[in-house]
Amino acid sequence: MPWCDSCSAHHAPTALDGGSCPQCGGVVTDNSPHAHDGVDEEKTVGQSAPWHFWIVVVALAAYLLWRLVIGIMWAIDKF
Ligand SMILES: [Zn+2]
Repeated sequence: MPWCDSCSAHHAPTALDGGSCPQCGGVVTDNSPHAHDGVDEEKTVGQSAPWHFWIVVVALAAYLLWRLVIGIMWAIDKF
C-alpha cells in the first residue's frame, strides 16, 4: 500500500497521481509487506508419509488382527 509521509496516510495504488500523492503531490513510498517475492520455499506438505510410519501402521494392524483372532477364539471357546 503506497504511503505518503507528508499526509501520513495510505493511498490506493490506482489513486496515485503519476507516482506522487494525489493530495499533496509529495513522494509516495510503497512499503507493502508483500512487495518481496521470496515465497519460493519448498513445501513438504504434499509428500507421503515416511517409511517408518507405515511400519507402525502395519504393526498396529497386525496387532489388532491378532487381538481379533484371540477374541474370536475366546468367543468360540465360551459357547
Ligand atoms: Zn500526501
